[in-house]
Amino acid sequence: MKVYKFGGASVMSAEAVQNVARLVRDQSHENLLIVQSAMGKMTNHLEELWGAYRAEEPTAGLLDEFRAYHTSIADGLELAPEQREGYEALIYQLQDELRKVPEENEALSYDRIVCYGELVGTRLAADALNMLGVNVEWFDVRHALVTDSSHRTAQVDWERSRTGADILRAHFEGNEGSCVLTQGFIARSRMGNTTTLGREGSDYSAAILAYLMDAESVTIWKDVPGMLNADPKWFANTVEVPELSYREAIELSYYGASVIHSKTIKPLQNKEIPLLVKSFLDPTHGGTVIRTDGWSSAPVPMYIFKPEQILLSISPRDFSFIVEHNLRDIFDALNQCGISVNLMQNSAISFSVCFDRDRRRLEALMEMLRSNYELRYNDHMELLTIRHYDEKIVAQLTSGKEILLEQKSRQMIRMVLRDTPQAENE
Ligand code: ASP
Ligand code: MG
Repeated sequence: MKVYKFGGASVMSAEAVQNVARLVRDQSHENLLIVQSAMGKMTNHLEELWGAYRAEEPTAGLLDEFRAYHTSIADGLELAPEQREGYEALIYQLQDELRKVPEENEALSYDRIVCYGELVGTRLAADALNMLGVNVEWFDVRHALVTDSSHRTAQVDWERSRTGADILRAHFEGNEGSCVLTQGFIARSRMGNTTTLGREGSDYSAAILAYLMDAESVTIWKDVPGMLNADPKWFANTVEVPELSYREAIELSYYGASVIHSKTIKPLQNKEIPLLVKSFLDPTHGGTVIRTDGWSSAPVPMYIFKPEQILLSISPRDFSFIVEHNLRDIFDALNQCGISVNLMQNSAISFSVCFDRDRRRLEALMEMLRSNYELRYNDHMELLTIRHYDEKIVAQLTSGKEILLEQKSRQMIRMVLRDTPQAENE
């Protein structure tokens, strides 16, 4: 069996859905599991709807827009009334959900509402594919995928999901060339509530299901030709990377490369399932393959750039060394403020952390640490990571910049940079 993952952009219009039908039709002799996200930007839209619902503001207008978006796709595909019944019923279900009193647990109500992007979008796509002559079965992934109850960032319960996957497996038994279409991003908790895996989590869903079903490969269909060695938004002359090892892909996504969701690789690596990243706009183009035996020839330098960073340096007020209990205080505070650290470094009397700029979180953190630590920070910093660097590249990219902090290993260099000298804030 193969797994195909289609993100929001690949099903954002009637033409896009027709294109998906073409891609799937080409695979019709094989078992295929399709994992799909909400159409277009519907998850953002539902987040807005959920916000209004929580604030007890009117939701009817936002719900109408949600319905109108899907209706326009169904119109473009010329779906008959009976082919619209499935997704329309789900929108009525969402309407009922909005009539309930919001739970105290915000994340629980988030998952209960926002999951409709995936539910409605996959239902509409499944009915459209059937109408276009591609035989697919719609499957509610919540029957198979089980998580804990940490809503919005649910963690997979592998044991229960293994049993759940048998239900999905049954849909493929007996006939070659079966196609099942299901949702990314969503799952169910052990308590039976809907959960979500975190924004952009559908890639990860595809990997989890591939792992559970022992798939032969996973293809993520995107609107880019594959993985590039840098984000073209920041770098000129990017090159495509045809092949990558799992290890390399994990490192890159950990340090912030955003083409695939960072948790996607690990389950695939464990079972050595290759991951292909391909363009749905140009399916004959090679794309990128991520697998164990990649990366044999001379590696291409890879760049990850994060603008708008804060570099905070933390020193004990009593001039003592930074020791374990200080680190515990600092990490506790970072964790409580919801700050994820992009880079850290310590010296005898200070500890530096670099994280995405968020003034509110910075202030909360400083409030927590101020009594015992002296705090200084630099705002609007840049964090540059280069894997497979050489000195020439580093010199080129740092010319005219000041390097505030640098970490180097044989494969990788990471630097906190700033453009023009400015004063430190206290
Ligand atoms: N629809 C969800 C999101 O936009 C999941 C995904 O697209 O991967 O975050
Ligand atoms: Mg999405």
